[in-house]
Amino acid sequence: MGFSAFGGDTYKQPIVMKPPVVIIGAGLSGLSLAILLRRLQVPVTILEKDIYPRQKVCGEYISVESEAFVRSLGVDTTHLPHINTLHLTSNRGREAQVKLKTGGFGISRWTLDHQLAQIACAEGADVQFGVTVRNVEGNTVRTVKHGDMEASHVIGAYGKSNRLSEIELPKNTTHYVGIKYHVKSDAPQDVIEMHVFKGGYCGFSKIEDDLYCLCYLADAAPLKSFGGDIDAFEKEHLSLNPKLKTRFAQVEKVGERAATSQFHFGSYRGHVNNQLLVGDASGFIPPITGNGMSLAFRSAANTAPLLADVWHGKLEEQALYKIQQNYVDTYLQKRISKGVFLQNLLLKQNWLSDAVLFAGLNHLPFLGQVLADTAVGEEFRI
Ligand SMILES: Cc1cc2nc3c(=O)[nH]c(=O)nc-3n(C[C@H](O)[C@H](O)[C@H](O)COP(=O)(O)OP(=O)(O)OC[C@H]3O[C@@H](n4cnc5c(N)ncnc54)[C@H](O)[C@@H]3O)c2cc1C
Repeated sequence: MGFSAFGGDTYKQPIVMKPPVVIIGAGLSGLSLAILLRRLQVPVTILEKDIYPRQKVCGEYISVESEAFVRSLGVDTTHLPHINTLHLTSNRGREAQVKLKTGGFGISRWTLDHQLAQIACAEGADVQFGVTVRNVEGNTVRTVKHGDMEASHVIGAYGKSNRLSEIELPKNTTHYVGIKYHVKSDAPQDVIEMHVFKGGYCGFSKIEDDLYCLCYLADAAPLKSFGGDIDAFEKEHLSLNPKLKTRFAQVEKVGERAATSQFHFGSYRGHVNNQLLVGDASGFIPPITGNGMSLAFRSAANTAPLLADVWHGKLEEQALYKIQQNYVDTYLQKRISKGVFLQNLLLKQNWLSDAVLFAGLNHLPFLGQVLADTAVGEEFRI
């Protein structure tokens, strides 16, 4: 018997306090999953190592397949620049313009991640910034400075190449670096430029307000030969592409440079131990496709209703792992393979293949469209 607040004795119901779902990482997959779970009455805690808003290395071009989904989360995309043309250039000075069938829109991660975090909080998620997860043991999430937390289910939404996913890499894996600037420019707002250089490529496209995003991915090995000096690397290595040299000269940089390193492509997993993986943590698609963010949203859209069923006792956790692994094996892996194909097509050019590719793109407009649409997925929404 217990004591009721209204003054009489009452039968005390055994209240089983179930710990929340704990999501590691407040990037796009983690935040959108948290928002959807809250809408399905599931308690959620997100642990994020950074303090928001923050800069994040990303080309900030989102393929249109996830636009309806992003809107349904509560982000207004109507005022954002929409992009329908790709301008491709090569190290040998060749150029081609491709009309994109689907296209995309531009928004900075500073704004997008911050807005999603605010929406997640408003939906009742407990979002904790400045908390770095050290490791996960069973259902206990151990943080570096903030103690341990019990979870009903642990979600790995911590992004690409994270040591928490315990992936062993083959010795010959190519490591990449990513660099991003926000810049001012008077370039067209509906065009994404993609400038290929030796070992990498640089995207340039409009985002919100009066800003553009200039972001490149490069094989880390040549940067090492410049002693890690990024300014020298840009001046002497990237500038071998004449159009990219002009682009760098014509923009006005705003704010700090953002950098990321030590990442690679080609590992796919739906879960590790008892962490369900979403977004880049389950597989990282080459940024050349402009699809990583859409895939992060897609994985949250797929996972949320199933995870809610698990939380509400309608589905076994092991069944969810199986479904997730199936998604990775049958869908994600195919899209990543197409992205790797596109990336190799542009990076592994010699004089002849470069000439043939650009002649093809300039004389056969459908070829560009087919290539550009290779890695794009169907529109999805909730
Ligand atoms: C150079 C480059 C350019 C790109 N350009 C584009 C583009 O133009 N278009 C596109 O669609 N995609 C692009 N991408 C890919 C895109 O950024 C990712 O696919 C997307 O961010 C994946 O979202 P996510 O939620 O899986 O991971 P993320 O957005 O990376 O979020 C992971 C979060 O986890 C946090 N975290 C990590 N470890 C821990 C820890 N131990 N404890 C607590 N928190 C942790 C991180 O701080 C981060 O906030 C690009 C990527 C790179 C590298």
